[in-house]
Amino acid sequence: MARPKTPLTKRLWAKIAKTGPDECWPWTGGTNLSNYGRIRGEDGVEIPVHYAVWWETHGPLPPYHRIRHTCGNRACCNPAHLEVYEIVDGEW
Ligand SMILES: [Zn+2]
Repeated sequence: MARPKTPLTKRLWAKIAKTGPDECWPWTGGTNLSNYGRIRGEDGVEIPVHYAVWWETHGPLPPYHRIRHTCGNRACCNPAHLEVYEIVDGEW
């Protein structure tokens, strides 16, 4: 299973269609059935693209936190449209 070792950062930003700072930045790569963008992490496991964008721009998530889009566009990759929220008990 030889796979080209292009760093995640490079593969990520290569498929994001950057537009204006306030506009949505559509993901041009593959998505899952819920229209969330997917990308393979360095370990080969697929991760949601908006998480990868967050890690690239803000660093690791605090424990028990998840990321959502403030614009409601699931394929959006604009870091300004992502926000972290705390998981409430029982909401997984
Ligand atoms: Zn957006």
